[in-house]
Amino acid sequence: MYDHVFRAGAIGTMTLPHRIVMGAMHLNLETRDDDGAALAAFYAERAAAGAALIVTGGVAVNAVGAGGPGYGVIGDSRDRAALSAAVRAVHNHGGRIALQLFHAGRYARPGAREGVGLPLAPSPVHSGFSRCTPREMSPRDITTTIDDFAEGACAARALGFDAVEVMGSEGYLINQFTAPLTNLRDDTWGGDAERRRRFPVEVLRGVRAAVGRDFPVLFRISGNDLVTGGTPPGEVTALAVALAEAGADALSVGVGWHESPVPTVQSEVPAGTWAASGKALKRALLAVGHKDVAVIAANRFNRIAQAEEALSGGELDFVAMARPFLADPEIVTKSAASRPDQVTLCIACNEACIDRSFGTERVSCLVNPRAGHEEEFPPPQSTRHRSGPFGRYAVIGAGIAGLEAARTLVGLGHHVEVYEAAAHAGGQFRLASQVPGKAEFAETIRHHVRELLEAGVPLHLGRRIGGEDIPELRSFHGVVLATGVLPARLSLPGAELPHVRDYAQALADPEALQGRTVIIGGGGIAVDLAHTLTTDPYAEVTPEEFLARHAVAENTPRPETEPAVRGAPREVTLLRRGRRIGAGIGPSTRWVVMRNLRSAGVRMLTGVTYREITPAGVIVADAEGRDRSIDADHVVLAVGQVPVRNLAPLLHEAGVPVVTAGGAAGTDGLNAVRATAEGLRAAHRI
Ligand code: SF4
Repeated sequence: MYDHVFRAGAIGTMTLPHRIVMGAMHLNLETRDDDGAALAAFYAERAAAGAALIVTGGVAVNAVGAGGPGYGVIGDSRDRAALSAAVRAVHNHGGRIALQLFHAGRYARPGAREGVGLPLAPSPVHSGFSRCTPREMSPRDITTTIDDFAEGACAARALGFDAVEVMGSEGYLINQFTAPLTNLRDDTWGGDAERRRRFPVEVLRGVRAAVGRDFPVLFRISGNDLVTGGTPPGEVTALAVALAEAGADALSVGVGWHESPVPTVQSEVPAGTWAASGKALKRALLAVGHKDVAVIAANRFNRIAQAEEALSGGELDFVAMARPFLADPEIVTKSAASRPDQVTLCIACNEACIDRSFGTERVSCLVNPRAGHEEEFPPPQSTRHRSGPFGRYAVIGAGIAGLEAARTLVGLGHHVEVYEAAAHAGGQFRLASQVPGKAEFAETIRHHVRELLEAGVPLHLGRRIGGEDIPELRSFHGVVLATGVLPARLSLPGAELPHVRDYAQALADPEALQGRTVIIGGGGIAVDLAHTLTTDPYAEVTPEEFLARHAVAENTPRPETEPAVRGAPREVTLLRRGRRIGAGIGPSTRWVVMRNLRSAGVRMLTGVTYREITPAGVIVADAEGRDRSIDADHVVLAVGQVPVRNLAPLLHEAGVPVVTAGGAAGTDGLNAVRATAEGLRAAHRI
């Protein structure tokens, strides 16, 4: 099984036991005031679980290149101490670790580090991502920055790193030099293709000279910028060859900028879509005799089987996976042991990882809330016998919070029973799995349920726990109450009419909503429902169709040509009191969702006041106070949720220790990330 993945491979002088590299992720652990303890624990767990080569999140080569306040800077002694702790931890577990040398250029957040001025870039081209216009680098800035990359590489070697990776893709500084969009210079660092690629080549030469010929150097190249005015395809190929000649041992191939109108890592992107970019570069390298430069494909692989397929043609040497190592540090070992169905899959939600990496909150994972908190919650098997006598615990509610609590309790060695009122596990998360593009949410439920059943956990489905069950619950040492939420009702004339239903009823049977539907509410659930009603759930998009739809081959994707959504002929209107539809959806995903809704012709009315639901539709007042009627065959209420926690006072009264988790604990800021994190914490607290 997976013969192409599980065979040794080389990056320069470094031999690795298999072909999966753990790709770089910024974690917001890098500058914590803990001497690198959390960072080291995060990497150590992944090294122990068989990650052959770990690439750190970007470490800035100087302070102005830091992407934000949570980015480490190689020249900062405190940040170096944290990195040193990470190196020791990885080596203690037999792993290898490469430092990613990073400079954000115009993507740096102004004021990211104290005393640092405006971000620097080849030209003063405004960035919508960082919302700033950078200062144009002087020739001296450029040569100093090249020296900083070289010194950073030297420092990495001195710290004990096994390799370095130069970050040259995803629209960061080096990539800004290669793209005509952001390099408007007409000096020796810009103006034509050769001068635009001079900076990356000089950086690589500097790094190579600093670390010597025997030290592995990877370069993260942009296979396709996916922005109008990005690096032309022919120049990408020429850059790959130039980097090989300048001494790169491997090219890790990224795609897309933060300003790109093409989704690259969202769930709607078919798995393995971007492998083609890596294969094209490998062919170009082979054509000119650079057979020893390893090519690493990246982006949107979440199963080892997909990596196997990508590697099987012999056109790629490695596959880099990043988020899948957050979701399950053991993805490699479980797959190597022919247990791929035991892997907790990354579902590409981006909610606890990429979205947080844009800010300062600690990166974690929806399906593995221990991620980023390894120090606080050591692996269950290592604490199992320290937690005293085993207990008997009941988990009431098998939604995503309850499932997480139950699997954590089992991991800690306790006896657990799970009670669920519905006939299926999963709760609101199961509803979400009905939404086109979120089918893999069902995988999480399947995985967690299977894990519990294999551990012998009694899972009482269809068993609603009420006051009469309290005596039975007294026999447990404690209860995790994860009874979730119910859709909120709306106090509005007409809300009880027969054509009005709540979002849960609508998502459970979207086929019933033919014709015109008005959704009252504009939050994430309302948006999901609108998407469900206007998208063919059975339309599977192949990587080739996806690439063609987004005009990727031409490398000139245009935001105004939104991709067509294969929609059912339904008319959907979203109504919102506030101004922003989908306000709670993370920044990495909201723009894709909104584009899909616009493309499907979903009407979105904001700033309205709901007046009345009538048999013919919904009457609202617009921002000027004028009433208008919106015709509808169906009206769906998606106006929030109310917690279900009526058992809590009964349990307290009966003296049963109880901890609530997920929706039962309250609906403020409720989402699946919060729910699973609370499930984990409840299991440790009870
Ligand atoms: Fe994957 Fe979501 Fe976890 Fe990020 S938070 S690693 S996208 S499952």
